[in-house]
Amino acid sequence: MQSARSVHFRVPHNQIMNDHEEDASRDNVVSLERVRERRMHPGEAKRPSSSSTTAAMEAAPAAATQAAAAHSDAGGANAAESPLPGRLIWLHCPTCGTLEYTELVVSDGRRHKCGTIVEEAEVEIDVRAEMTVAEINLRRVAALEGYLRQQRARFEEYRHRLTLIAGATPKPYALTEERVKALPAAEVDPVGLIISEALHNPSKRFGKKE
Ligand SMILES: [Zn+2]
Repeated sequence: MQSARSVHFRVPHNQIMNDHEEDASRDNVVSLERVRERRMHPGEAKRPSSSSTTAAMEAAPAAATQAAAAHSDAGGANAAESPLPGRLIWLHCPTCGTLEYTELVVSDGRRHKCGTIVEEAEVEIDVRAEMTVAEINLRRVAALEGYLRQQRARFEEYRHRLTLIAGATPKPYALTEERVKALPAAEVDPVGLIISEALHNPSKRFGKKE
């Protein structure tokens, strides 16, 4: 028996790339970006919860239009393969320490809600490449959500069956490190779930290959 730690992670790739494509939306893109931001800056938990990052900043009227908006994306097949230039602007409030981004270009600066003039850093981007990254990540997240739903149903069912096998609800072992290491784990799946020897690859019990 292999220990759980030595088992190579096996990613259900087809499922992760193909399921739930329709879930991708721009709102999700923004909220994902904000989630990641929070992870990168765990000390900034008091970030405003509005869905638009620009809402948190008091912007002067937009004096310039965004490069990407001016760039026509309605061309032929070649246009879909060429870079789409654009920019996003990171905003840093030196008083509050907040970091947010916006697509709105303004000519004469803007204030954070605390009254401080924010520092701005423009990032030139290929909007098409960034969009591609967002789409890939959203597909993966959607597939993982589907996978997690399946696994929840699978292990709730298993818990129920174990109760039937025992004729009563069995009490799990105390979760000490030693006890967990000694569990009959055949595999740890891509999201860290333990698949026990009893559940793993049942066809091998009938002389079949995996
Ligand atoms: Zn501030």
